[in-house]
Parts: sequence; structure tokens; C-alpha cells
Amino acid sequence: MIQLIRGFKDILPEEAGLWQEIERIAADLFEDFGYREIRIPIMERTELFARSIGEDTDIVEKEMYTFPDRKGDLITLRPEATASIVRSYIQHKMYAADPVRKFYMTGPMFRRERPQKGRYRQFYQIDAEIFGVASPYADAELIYLLDTLFRRLGVDDVAAHINSLGCPACRPGFKSALLDYMADRMETLCVDCKRRSERNPLRALDCKVPDCRDAMADAPSILDHLCADCRDHFDTVKTALTDLGVPFEVDKRLVRGLDYYTRTTFEILTGSLGAQSAVAGGGRYDGLIEMLGGPSLPATGFAIGFDRLVEIVGMKAEDYQRAPKLFIAALGPHSQARAFGWSCALGTAGIQADMDFEGRSLKSQMKRADRSGAEYVLIVGEKELAEGGAVLRNMATKEQETISLRDLAAEIKKRLSLHP
Ligand code: ATP
Ligand code: MG
Repeated sequence: MIQLIRGFKDILPEEAGLWQEIERIAADLFEDFGYREIRIPIMERTELFARSIGEDTDIVEKEMYTFPDRKGDLITLRPEATASIVRSYIQHKMYAADPVRKFYMTGPMFRRERPQKGRYRQFYQIDAEIFGVASPYADAELIYLLDTLFRRLGVDDVAAHINSLGCPACRPGFKSALLDYMADRMETLCVDCKRRSERNPLRALDCKVPDCRDAMADAPSILDHLCADCRDHFDTVKTALTDLGVPFEVDKRLVRGLDYYTRTTFEILTGSLGAQSAVAGGGRYDGLIEMLGGPSLPATGFAIGFDRLVEIVGMKAEDYQRAPKLFIAALGPHSQARAFGWSCALGTAGIQADMDFEGRSLKSQMKRADRSGAEYVLIVGEKELAEGGAVLRNMATKEQETISLRDLAAEIKKRLSLHP
């Protein structure tokens, strides 16, 4: 038997209803805040990700699914959405009329990481971005949206961690202070941190290797090196969040794996997922649009790990499985033909109906009706057809009544509206 690829997974129908519900709740919230959906391709030229995410990152160094297509062009399955959204924004000159645009999207991402709980090679993200707004209120809005969404989804065990990464004016000063600190401890750092120290020393701050964590425990804080503009920016984010009642923690070790982040950076962490504790991450990336060939415009955004979110929502998958409202147990060929007509008409009217096509005994049809979770069962034989009335059984209360077959949809609708 052929099995799926390691690190990939099926989202089965029993679970898909919950995914749909979460997606709807997120989309409604984003739309209410003026975000519009964008759908971007699953593959892009490798260069787009290599340039935007940065050659020194885990993603580009070892996680991308990159391969030559049949003509030899290098293409990559998208590991994240931001680069593609920026590419699309530039390519379609979306900035021309008004540079301010808000986007959201949901879809699969691909990273060849070691599969484990909460970590897949195809996983899903819910993404939101604001382009063209330099103001700290845009960052605060995104964090507020995350907080609101998690509340709506019944997620409680989460905390927003925030930090500032500075800007091209103040980060170099911090980098050199950090490098001085690291120089004295180079021996204890892991090979990745050693190798990256020259170009991307900030990564050592969130290295997961225990020796690196110990060595970096007393590293200088970027917050002591921010320029006045970055400090004001960060202060306004914090004040806005406080005014909105969004709880947060300043975490000076929080840095992002991606090179293009500037100023505000944040992560939503949960205690319920073990080692894979980040449910969402994001921040400001003011340099990216220009770096990818567009005008110099600021941007900020986040990505939620959808798979991890599903694990921690306070909703149960079984509540989002749709059971039929009516099961028609038809006995005899004429009843079966009429039942088929009724079930199509009901389905068209938005009332899910089911029936058995095999002409089985009443007993086995009732068993199937029960298993289907149908609210009502209509029992129709040739005699009932001739008389124009049949027994309708309420599966929960076991009550039975005879109803007219003349306008079945109306009869069923009437009962459903009494017990919605
Ligand atoms: P992590 O530290 O867990 O590797 P990350 O920093 O690589 O996360 P981002 O690039 O910020 O993750 O992506 C945003 C979110 O996407 C993460 O917070 C996480 O919830 C989710 N995510 C990232 N990689 C995976 C994966 N391989 N499987 C499932 N979810 C993932
Ligand atoms: Mg990662």
C-alpha cells in the first residue's frame, strides 16, 4: 500500500469541519478590520525566498523543497507567505493608487524539518499583513487581532511576547556589542552560531542548543541600543496594547529567524504544546518591499501556525461535523425513486438528507440512520406512498408522527425551525 510522505498528513473529514470553522472565524475578523484575501501560488522562483528570507536562515539553508522543473529553472514550494505577497504587491503595482493595503491568506507551507508533534513538512498558516503603514499602531493592531482571534477560538493558555529589533540606524551598534560579547564565548557556541556569528549574530539569541542558551544568558539587550525613533515606536506599541487591554511580555531575547524583520517583533507562545510552543509569529519588515524591487514602503504582518492552533482551540471537532437532518428509509422501488427525488430537493433547499440506495431491510436502514446521526427518519413503503402520508421519527426523543408527503420539504423545515 502506498503511504503518504513522512511529515505530511491528511486532514480527514471528521476534522475538516473544525478547520473550516476556524478559517471562517479568522476571515470574518480580518474582513471586519478591512483586510482582504489574497491567494498566491504554492510555488515561486527559488530566488524570491532565498533573497527575502535570507541565505543564513534555517529555512533557506536546510528546509526548502527546491527542485529544477523540466526546463531546469529552480523552483521552491513556498515555506511562508510574506515573500509571495510582497512579490504580488510589487508585480501588480498595488501601491500605485494607495500604498496602504491589508491582506490575509490561509494555505499550506512546506519546510523539510524533522517531523514531530506540531511540526510537519506540509503545514498550514493563517497570515495577515499590513503594507504601507510605518506607524506603531499597525503593529498594535496585528497583536490585538491575534489576541481577539484567540479569545474567539477559546484559546486561553497563550502569551504575547514582544521585542524590538531596531532599524538599520541602531542595529549595527547592537550587533557589534553582541559580537564582542560572543567573541569571549565563541568556544561554547554551537557550530551554527559560530558560522553565522559574522553575518547574523542575532540568531544566537534564540538558539535552542542548551550550551548556547547558557552562554547567551547575559548577552546585551537590544532594548538598550535602540535609537530614539525605534524607542518611541516601541513605546507606542506597548502603550497602545496596554490601552487596548492586551496582555504582553517584553522579551529581549526574542529575535526572528528572517533577515528582513525590523523594529517590532512578536510571538504568541502557548504552554499546551510542549516543545513546539510558538503558535504565531510576526513583526515589522520595513526593508523587504524595496529589497524585492518595489518602492521603499514599510510593512508588518504575522503568521499563525494553523495546525498548532487546531490543537489548542477550545472547540471540539465533533461539533463541526455535519450530520443529515433527515434519513429517508425507503422500502420498495417506487418509494426509493420518490425518496431520491426528495433527498435531492432537500439538499438543494439546504437541508442535508440521506438515504440508502441498496434496498435493504427496514432494520438495517434504521441502523444506518442511527449511525448517520440524522435528526429525523422518514419511513416510506409502497403503502405510505399510496396513502400520501408516512411516519416521521424524531431520533432524539423517539417520538413518531404521521406527516403528509405532499410537501415534504416544508414539513421538515417546519420541524427544524421548531428545534434548530
Ligand atoms: P519554530 O520556532 O516553531 O520553528 P518558526 O519561527 O520557524 O517556528 P515562523 O516562520 O514564524 O515559525 O512561522 C509562524 C508559525 O508557523 C509558527 O509560530 C508555528 O506555529 C508555525 N510553524 C512553523 N513551522 C512549522 C512546522 N514545520 N509545522 C507546523 N507549524 C509550523
Ligand atoms: Mg522553524
